[in-house]
Amino acid sequence: MSTAFAIVDPATGEAFTEVGMADRGEVDAAVRRAARAQEGWAALAPADRARLLRRFAAAVDAAGEELAALEVRNSGHPIDSARWEAGHVRDVLEYYSGSPERLIGQQIPVAGGIDVTFHEPLGVVGVIVPWNFPMTIAAWGFAPALAAGNAVVLKPAEWTPLTALRLAELALEAGLPDGLLQVVPGRGDEAGEALVRHPDVAKVVFTGSTRTGSRVMALAAEQVKPVTLELGGKSANLVFADADLDAAAAAAPGAVFDNAGQDCCARSRILVERSVLDAFLERLEPAVAAWRVGDPRETGVQMGPLVSAEHRERVAGFLDGSTPVAFRGQAPTGPGFWFAPAVLLPDRADDRILTDEVFGPVVAVQAFDGEAEGVRLANATAYGLSGSIWTRDLGRGLRVSRAVRAGALSVNSNSSVRFTAPFGGMKRSGIGRELGPDAPLAFTDTKNVFYATGDPAA
Ligand code: NAD
Repeated sequence: MSTAFAIVDPATGEAFTEVGMADRGEVDAAVRRAARAQEGWAALAPADRARLLRRFAAAVDAAGEELAALEVRNSGHPIDSARWEAGHVRDVLEYYSGSPERLIGQQIPVAGGIDVTFHEPLGVVGVIVPWNFPMTIAAWGFAPALAAGNAVVLKPAEWTPLTALRLAELALEAGLPDGLLQVVPGRGDEAGEALVRHPDVAKVVFTGSTRTGSRVMALAAEQVKPVTLELGGKSANLVFADADLDAAAAAAPGAVFDNAGQDCCARSRILVERSVLDAFLERLEPAVAAWRVGDPRETGVQMGPLVSAEHRERVAGFLDGSTPVAFRGQAPTGPGFWFAPAVLLPDRADDRILTDEVFGPVVAVQAFDGEAEGVRLANATAYGLSGSIWTRDLGRGLRVSRAVRAGALSVNSNSSVRFTAPFGGMKRSGIGRELGPDAPLAFTDTKNVFYATGDPAA
């Protein structure tokens, strides 16, 4: 039986609706429906699956404003970002609508016959997503999974189920078969675990904390079930003395305070070559002061509130007086889960601000001496998701980008995600890759078939 969960507007702190949390029985029913829908979906001609995915993309496009407004209310994302996110879901669907007709196998030269590989769909895929980017991360899972011929049961995070629920309705309106894409809001330890443990769920794509990801992987291992894990980060923004300091400092707030720092790719450690540390901080301070935090409904606002009171409490715990604060930005006061961006200057190498993921608008600045130490500090973390390298030296850009152990790096830019390129983490930031041209293959099993032609040599 569903229990009701209050959904809160982070900008006001007020509950504005309720959503039923699915229990184990409801997850089981959803997986059974999905398994039935998947059979028909996989039997459709590839061109028909492609056409339906394009229609789904068109439905998302038409509902872009509605989805964006819903994300602003449910997650506190600024309206400009939420519009971009809705457009991103459409683009990801359009991109993978090209895949059903391009899941091309191989024909391998062998004696005595013909050897062919097929990319068979897995069946029902479970997608579990966090609250920080509810619709984009959902689409990274469901779009390539559907394109490869699977059904999807998606569990959104407790706090932010609304856009995922609307996307499932849009899929139906676009003509996707009933049951093919279902959203089951629910608690992680109940609905989430039920999905991972379900014997008819063939694969789990999990995005969330490293701790929960490790639990999901252990549960999946009991059934030898494949997982893709997109987990936490503590990414470095390396600024070398030869960099364009104006550009690096102007871009640094966006690299860590975007989405209020609730971003797995947040460059939450800025490592600056010591000879330019003061010059960099002089430029960073006005950039942080100018970072616009405010009502997420207003165009031009760069950062809204944190997602919940509970999360704000956790983020605030990093400003307990034990780490020197260089300066802070502005934030509204009053109702809502506001938090002014903060720049910290840790003076101890073992300060937890250098190792723990904050997932809020707090950045640590640390000095380094020379390229080798810069790389060493960048890698001094259990995580390996993203990062940036600012330098005018092309050779250094190449050397350092190869030496930093992270899955999604950028040089003279802080961009992490382009849906046309693979995305994912090294070390404890995850296993597997999402997005890019190969993503649908992660939702297939390669089947090899040898067809004998009667050659006696075989
Ligand atoms: P979380 O791990 O608490 O929850 C993520 C999802 O897992 C939620 O839907 C939750 O309900 C569910 N869940 C919780 N316990 C579960 C269990 N035992 N079994 C199955 N599912 C369970 O993470 P969060 O706080 O929602 O999100 C923040 C984290 O996500 C951060 O660590 C962040 O870095 C990470 N993240 C990673 C990426 C990436 O692509 N690498 C992207 C976004 C967020």
